Amino acid sequence: MTKTQPIVAAVILAAGGSTRFGRPKQLLTWNHKPLIAQAADVAWSAGLDPVIVVVGAYADTVIPVMAARPVRIVRNYRWQEGMSSSLHVGIAALPPDVDAAIFMPIDQPLITPRLLQMYVHHWQETCAGILVPQTTEGQHGSPVLFSRRYFEELAGLSGDVGGRALFAQHNDDIAHLPISDSAWMTDIDTPATYEQLRLSTGAVSGRLDFSQIRGLVCDMDGVLWRGQTALPGLKDFFRLIHDLDLKYMLVTNNSSRTPAQYVQKLAGMGISTTTDHILNSAIAAARHIADRQPGASVFAIGGPGVREATVAHGLEFHNEADTEAVDYVVVGWDRDLTWKKLATATRLILNGAAFIGTNPDKTFPLEHTLAPGNGAQTAALTAATGIEPVMAGKPAGPLYQQAMQRMDTTPETTLVLGDRLDTDILGGIRLGMPTALLLTGISQAHELEDSPIRPTAVIKDLATLVQKWRVTCRQSGQPHTVRD
Ligand SMILES: [Mg+2]
Repeated sequence: MTKTQPIVAAVILAAGGSTRFGRPKQLLTWNHKPLIAQAADVAWSAGLDPVIVVVGAYADTVIPVMAARPVRIVRNYRWQEGMSSSLHVGIAALPPDVDAAIFMPIDQPLITPRLLQMYVHHWQETCAGILVPQTTEGQHGSPVLFSRRYFEELAGLSGDVGGRALFAQHNDDIAHLPISDSAWMTDIDTPATYEQLRLSTGAVSGRLDFSQIRGLVCDMDGVLWRGQTALPGLKDFFRLIHDLDLKYMLVTNNSSRTPAQYVQKLAGMGISTTTDHILNSAIAAARHIADRQPGASVFAIGGPGVREATVAHGLEFHNEADTEAVDYVVVGWDRDLTWKKLATATRLILNGAAFIGTNPDKTFPLEHTLAPGNGAQTAALTAATGIEPVMAGKPAGPLYQQAMQRMDTTPETTLVLGDRLDTDILGGIRLGMPTALLLTGISQAHELEDSPIRPTAVIKDLATLVQKWRVTCRQSGQPHTVRD
């Protein structure tokens, strides 16, 4: 059975005794959490799965700190024998379907999820066995990615050596990830470096710089409205967009409704917009397919949103149970899902059709309870076929990437506004976009304390966002001149 996407794991090497540093580096505070948690959260936010954390020295203190995180902790009882013993334990914990692993130290706190995603992309492009970061000055650093074909050799190392011991022998199988900003390679070697790093980055981290923003990618339910009710500040928000001449896309993982239905809903709340400002996960899925195979044949499960998007992108739409063979199976949320539809989709996927899901949301909120969402539907097909879908919606990349393409903006200048940490905010973090969590929907302030997902800003509601933005404009004058 074929897999549609390679599986890349993270192995976080956190077993050392920090003898030169003088105290446990694992527990130094960064971003209001211990360094070991910072490293694990960055790896998890990047989508690396599984995240294996190797602990050794101070294990009894470190393990409780990691208790609530979606990682696997493994103990290296022989940590005093050196780095190779941790590689050994980490590799032994990797499941057999992992294709590659990024071996991460814990003392490079400037590593971002975006950077780790660049590792994965570059590795896929180059097909190299080993991927090493390289600055423009030719300096090499950590972390290093190793393909599965080196796991055995890594596990065979002994003494205080790491993966670098393999470099000389396999020089022709090493690819370099070009790094323009070498700052993130800085490691906390001494207490003085730790203090310097904290001071130099503390000033800029966690601040949302409105003056850099040219475009908005904005979730709708829980940000603009809840159910049928407009949320506070909605009209002022659109006035701000107009005044500052911001580009905007209203995006949603809900694939069942069409852009025209959203335009109509907004009109009912006194907001005038057009369908080209609306992007749902069905459109993102159709675009994704049309970019790869124009005119492809598609068997689709889903509501009118999926049908309309498929046809609008010039794809050949099928939903009949006797559909013979197609290039793609697209699965969106379907209130009329039947066993027959699932059976047809299963047969087509097993016959080689590529499997695309519009969005991974496992549940769908109803008035007083939860119903199975599209993630539950695709999970049924994964169970039947053994194949994971490529997702179009948040936190996967296509939806946001297409929104930025339409606005012609870059990740750095595009602000994500959302009410869910695990979809809206995580999707933005993975693409290197600034993010603002609005507390008018699903995720609440108290969840932030335990969450590995850190938005750039947390804002009460749209009204507060507008107020803050206008104050910044008034203070700076430029480059955003208010037109009124
Ligand atoms: Mg929402």
